Amino acid sequence: MTTATTPDSTAEMQQVSFLIIGAGFSGLGAAIKLQQAGHTDMIILERAEAVGGTWRDNTYPGCRCDVQSNLYSYSFDPKPDWSETFPSQPELWSYLHKVTSKNGLREYLRFGHEVTSARWDADAKRWLVSTTRGDFAARYLIAGVGSLVEPSLPDIPGIDTFAGTIMHSSRWDHSWQAAGRRVAVVGTGASAIQIVPSIQPQVEHLSVFQRTAPFVVPHTNHPVKPAIKTLYRVLPVTQRASRALIYWMREILAIGFTKNPKILKKAEVAWRKHMEGAVTDPRLRAELTPTYDLGCKRVLPSNDYYPAIAKPNVSLVTEKIIEFRPESVVTADGAEHTVDTVILATGFHVTDNPTFGKITGTGGRTLADAFGTTYLGTVVPGFPNYFQLTGANTGLGHSSMLFMIESQLNYIADGISKAEASGGQFAVRPEVAAAYNAELQRKLPKTVWGSGCSSWYLDSEGRNLTLWPGFTFDFRRRTREFREADFVLG
Ligand SMILES: Cc1cc2nc3c(=O)[nH]c(=O)nc-3n(C[C@H](O)[C@H](O)[C@H](O)COP(=O)(O)OP(=O)(O)OC[C@H]3O[C@@H](n4cnc5c(N)ncnc54)[C@H](O)[C@@H]3O)c2cc1C
Repeated sequence: MTTATTPDSTAEMQQVSFLIIGAGFSGLGAAIKLQQAGHTDMIILERAEAVGGTWRDNTYPGCRCDVQSNLYSYSFDPKPDWSETFPSQPELWSYLHKVTSKNGLREYLRFGHEVTSARWDADAKRWLVSTTRGDFAARYLIAGVGSLVEPSLPDIPGIDTFAGTIMHSSRWDHSWQAAGRRVAVVGTGASAIQIVPSIQPQVEHLSVFQRTAPFVVPHTNHPVKPAIKTLYRVLPVTQRASRALIYWMREILAIGFTKNPKILKKAEVAWRKHMEGAVTDPRLRAELTPTYDLGCKRVLPSNDYYPAIAKPNVSLVTEKIIEFRPESVVTADGAEHTVDTVILATGFHVTDNPTFGKITGTGGRTLADAFGTTYLGTVVPGFPNYFQLTGANTGLGHSSMLFMIESQLNYIADGISKAEASGGQFAVRPEVAAAYNAELQRKLPKTVWGSGCSSWYLDSEGRNLTLWPGFTFDFRRRTREFREADFVLG
């Protein structure tokens, strides 16, 4: 990664009103909202060479969204002809390409531009932004840099000495062939449970290294019938109705996650039937049985994960990995597992995304320091004219991130219009953000996510800065209006 210092003068920089970082669902959505509000003086900085974010980077076999296509897509850009009820990665990526072209966003995109620093210059009233391919100055900075975007690699002795193929799930090596391989999959989270059944039939042997067992529940994905596609195309209201139905069914789950975790006990009965239907070995069943409340870690849908784990060429390893050697993985019980490939399905730097350390507000404070002070996941005290998409406590365990992103986009559009009407600058009041975060941190320990498991939802201090602790319609209500009283404007 190349680094650059923040420029001191705005003279040689490209001047623009709005700078957006990232060309995933957030950044592209922000550009569309700006266009709708009549703004065209904008640039989207994207470090990769294509749009897509998550759905460009995660090309591992079996990659699929866990939320239905009709809800996991922009409400303002429906696609009537989704081929399956839950979209696969290729179809989502293609959708984002089409949205980009259809909305004329290509002219604003600057690929290969990795933001290496961004600093608020209070005198110039500009964000000064350095990238690997030039410097920019903007009146507003909108960061759509993603929260599941920076691979988290395990810090295990000897990992650099491994002589075979080693890859993170989000950096899949497509020249790698599964046939005849002895493979280690490290982790049993959302990506692993999609990868394992996809490669199990081809590999010679698969060792799945599990730290904690996930709850894997039945998946209801199926092809969308041609008649339904036609109906959605001819009568768009029917697709909107489907979207609403899915939304409300998922929202019911929030009651279990955030209000009354006991409700989720019923789902455990369905999970057990699902698991025991595929796995007969009592020892394996015990190892696949989570020791925490359902929902505390992300609940994962798959019909073929448990059957794959039960296959003779698969071993589930529950001992901790303590060392990598050139041709093996060693576990705490002293066992040496000979492998030629390691797939790290080890997740992402979520609340410690390295980009946060490169964004500096007033007083030299970086977003990495200020992340936990974010208000409505979108604006940060000490970061004037700055908007964050999918920021602190906007994540969900039960529904579509697109709903949260669109709520934020409405808030941003209202914020820009109000700031423009009153001098062109806004700064959220620290006391407003502090009261909001205190409220969230009071609520979160009472949710299922605070019920005692260790998960990526929690940071190194055990604080949950990841998830929204309630109904998504409550987030939508709170972000409906950019309340002027919460800000210093002008
Ligand atoms: C495997 C996987 C499965 C998922 N499944 C679901 C699901 O089922 N349901 C759901 O709701 N959500 C899911 N998510 C979450 C998903 O990330 C969000 O739903 C959504 O795609 C986030 O969009 P985004 O634009 O905010 O971030 P991203 O899609 O991550 O895009 C961020 C963009 O910013 C760019 N960028 C980052 N840093 C810089 C920088 N310094 N300079 C320039 N560019 C930069 C990146 O290259 C990337 O293109 C999943 C995530 C993963 C990884």
